[in-house]
Amino acid sequence: MIFWIAPHLAFLVQWLRVLGMDVRLWDKEVIFGREEEEAVVQWDRYPLTLPHPGIRVFSLSASTREALLKEFFIKTGIRSDPSRMFKRCLRCNSLLTALNPEEAKSKWPDLPVYVFQTQKHFNWCDRCQQLFWAGTHVRNMIRTLEGWGVISTSNQT
Ligand SMILES: [Zn+2]
Repeated sequence: MIFWIAPHLAFLVQWLRVLGMDVRLWDKEVIFGREEEEAVVQWDRYPLTLPHPGIRVFSLSASTREALLKEFFIKTGIRSDPSRMFKRCLRCNSLLTALNPEEAKSKWPDLPVYVFQTQKHFNWCDRCQQLFWAGTHVRNMIRTLEGWGVISTSNQT
């Protein structure tokens, strides 16, 4: 499902992408109906004027980033799943391709030797021509989301 995020909630886009959601920033030029399943996510204190009566709308009412993220998963009925994390490019929303170190090196010859030797899993964005791996910032994001109660990795088997 594609979620069109209202501009007032733009600060959620990166976090929802980290969590594997297909999220795009809504603007009034957006024409719905080209894709199968779409919904608009708005903040109920700033309701959007939507010229598309058929579109599904999720209205969030929380006031903090962490509460809004939790409310997103409750209202959409989607389970926040740590295994879906870091599957999308944070810049362009494209699905990433998983690469092993050899493949990563061939895609991106500038890969630092230390990273090549220490990392096993890489992700490649074909659109941005960018390579990603699980560095410190990834661990920090996981820890932050756990701290907010948006994901729970401790009870994973
Ligand atoms: Zn990208």
